[in-house]
Amino acid sequence: MDYLPVFLDIRERPCLLVGGGEVALRKATLLARAGARLKLVAPEVRGDLRELLEAELGILHQRRFEDADLDNVALVIAATNDDQVNQHISRLARDRSLPVNVVDQPALCTFIVPAIVDRSPVVVAISTGGSSPVLTRQLKEKIEQAVPAAYGRLAALLGGFRKRVRARIDDFEQRTRFWERLLDGPLSGLVFSGREREAEAWIESELENAGDAPAAPQGEVWLVGAGPGDPDLLTLKALRLMYAADVVLYDRLVSPEILQKVRPDAEKFHVGKQRAHHPVPQEAINDQLVRLARQGRKVLRLKGGDPFIFGRGGEEIDRLAELGIPFQVVPGITAASGCASYAGIPLTHRDFAQSVRFVAGHLKGDRVGLDWPHLAREDQTLVIYMGLVGLPNICRQLVAHGMPADMPVAVVQQGTTATQRVVSGTLDDIVARVESEAVQPPTIIIIGHVVSLHRELAWFNVSRDA
Ligand code: SAH
Repeated sequence: MDYLPVFLDIRERPCLLVGGGEVALRKATLLARAGARLKLVAPEVRGDLRELLEAELGILHQRRFEDADLDNVALVIAATNDDQVNQHISRLARDRSLPVNVVDQPALCTFIVPAIVDRSPVVVAISTGGSSPVLTRQLKEKIEQAVPAAYGRLAALLGGFRKRVRARIDDFEQRTRFWERLLDGPLSGLVFSGREREAEAWIESELENAGDAPAAPQGEVWLVGAGPGDPDLLTLKALRLMYAADVVLYDRLVSPEILQKVRPDAEKFHVGKQRAHHPVPQEAINDQLVRLARQGRKVLRLKGGDPFIFGRGGEEIDRLAELGIPFQVVPGITAASGCASYAGIPLTHRDFAQSVRFVAGHLKGDRVGLDWPHLAREDQTLVIYMGLVGLPNICRQLVAHGMPADMPVAVVQQGTTATQRVVSGTLDDIVARVESEAVQPPTIIIIGHVVSLHRELAWFNVSRDA
């Protein structure tokens, strides 16, 4: 992060604005909206800016900037068209450790002003750190569309009840749960449709019932697929639950970028598994899920890809079902789909592959005991998970069972992440290529005629846009 995002309280505080043109007007409007006491210095001031100052009871000094203008102000914005003046103000303000912004000159600023989506008291600030104003604007438009105008009213309504809820429900977790229950219920809908009275009555009645006889907290487990790596491939449901969880058990395959999206104060446990090296045995994970849920917590079991594809998701929920612990399973994009799309390899194709098979390349005890005659068919695509170590054997067996030795093969390492690599070849030479390229797991191996499309399609493929 190049900048620390913060929200400054400048209500009733004197803020200095130097400049009297259109840019100064925009900044004055913004400062006034945040409740600042405006102090404006400029030899010439346009009429509408003068009117704004009068309306806001600001002070106008119609003259050139003087050093003493910086006395007793909380913040400085320089919006003059005189470079020397701007630089001078920036230097003086820095010397005094005063936060200073020189409009459109990041090098002279100690803070920059973000683009804003204002649903006060909800405010979203957006910045690309000065790298692309157009991108900032587009992002702002997206957020403007996504956040209903009534969000501010909703926040204000909730804010009005905060003290009472705190007084009524002592326990932090119970209180969080109370708010979540409210927001998951009809409350937002009532506010968004202008029925604030009913919304208030609803909160009142919920508050009445809360805290009396606190029902034993009901824990839950959410078995959620996090997709293959690119955080943009998370489902909306996964994101929502990631933000609602109290505690998270995650796999080695869940990328740090994805983990960042989990609620920051949720407790996090790494229970990753690696080939031939299981730091936390499956049984222990199953037990932990049960124990945490029985404490009444919302437990997120976050797994790479899809939980039901080579993810042992079935075993984890077996125990929960047996013990009557509520759970939800949320599918994720499995590595095969993610890697294939991002590498530009269609898994099926009318001309080349009428079916696709997902195969585990490494089985218990390291023996790959697969149904080779069926796998060696040419009219299908094979996608092999956990296959890197067994690759020499896999290639040998497929050729021995009739697959042509020049059948195309692609090995996709860390697919969909920023470090994705694709190494391609044929059954004959892929092992040597993988060795010379020092390919590391996790990898997906794709075998079939569809792989030959990779070169053509990869050129224009910009799937990962991060
Ligand atoms: N449930 C997961 C698979 C877990 S098995 C899913 O649906 O994707 C673990 C294997 O998945 C790894 O050994 C590797 O073969 C594959 N894999 C997972 N993420 C991957 C990625 N980003 N790139 C390549 N292979 C990946």
